[in-house]
Amino acid sequence: MRKSIAIYPGSFDPITLGHTDIAQRATGLVERVYLAVSAGQHTAFSLEERTRLARASLVHCEAVEVVEFDCLVVELARRLHAHFLVRGLRAVSDFDFEFQLAAVNRELMPELETLFLMPAQRYIFLSSSIVRELAAHGGDVSAYVSAPVQQALAARRASL
Ligand code: ADP
Repeated sequence: MRKSIAIYPGSFDPITLGHTDIAQRATGLVERVYLAVSAGQHTAFSLEERTRLARASLVHCEAVEVVEFDCLVVELARRLHAHFLVRGLRAVSDFDFEFQLAAVNRELMPELETLFLMPAQRYIFLSSSIVRELAAHGGDVSAYVSAPVQQALAARRASL
């Protein structure tokens, strides 16, 4: 059987063009990518809104399906029969945490291989928190998020 399913988990609070860049790169490697939005807590946007914005940002990407989850990533991977766990790697700051996470996930599910993908250069320093900060101060975020996310940020500006 071909290894053809990947999950790409995260909080996506909100989804940025850095995230969509990674998801699209993953579709070049596998047949199906599940972009999995974690339920989590203490997020600026609700789970429902984060999921809606992820779907709206990826409408053109047929190989990506947006799902929600509220369990361990490895449990979700088992449920979706995923072979790969995709994570994005930005500047060196991501490495330490991502390395630990990959090691723990390997302990929990050895057959799930973590794939680290690097975004386009213009997104290498981009994060959801920077986008929220920019938007909160009325900055132009159009180069970093899709139009629906831009609208959602503008509507929520006072509470970001
Ligand atoms: P988490 O809540 O797990 O920190 P995020 O929603 O921030 O997750 O991001 C999910 C994944 O996407 C992580 O692997 C993160 O490193 C990656 N990521 C976030 N922003 C970017 C970006 N600009 N370029 C590449 N990868 C990114």
